[in-house]
Amino acid sequence: MPTGQCLCASVRFSLETAPLFFYRCHCSLCRRQTGTGYNCATIVTAANFHWLAGQADINRWQKPSGYRNDFCKQCGTTVPNPLRGLPYVWVPLGLLDPQSHSMTCIGDYCLNDAMPWDTLRSDVCLEGAPASVESLIAALGVSPL
Ligand SMILES: [Zn+2]
Ligand SMILES: [Zn+2]
Repeated sequence: MPTGQCLCASVRFSLETAPLFFYRCHCSLCRRQTGTGYNCATIVTAANFHWLAGQADINRWQKPSGYRNDFCKQCGTTVPNPLRGLPYVWVPLGLLDPQSHSMTCIGDYCLNDAMPWDTLRSDVCLEGAPASVESLIAALGVSPL
């Protein structure tokens, strides 16, 4: 059972099934969220996701557009957040504890916002965002509910 945690380990969670796919978003929000060229994230079903500790330590910042960054108020790490009213959870990959299986990047998104020094690309490159959250969920191979 994969587990993950924030820098200070106040916020901890587990997944029932290991995700196999992830994506990279190079938009200006994700760049600032991570402090680097892009975020690496995946989406799991809410049924697959369990908080183990620290939900009371999570603060939320949200834009009117819906872009949301939940973070540990003790250490500032970006932590998983529920996906816009859908029964899914967005999971930043870097929080996961070391895994034995490999994962495949299904796409690089919002490349019109990418920095010139950011040159890592997968087979699927989009200038903007995926067509919809549903199409992203499908591309990540997450079972529909
Ligand atoms: Zn923390
Ligand atoms: Zn983004």
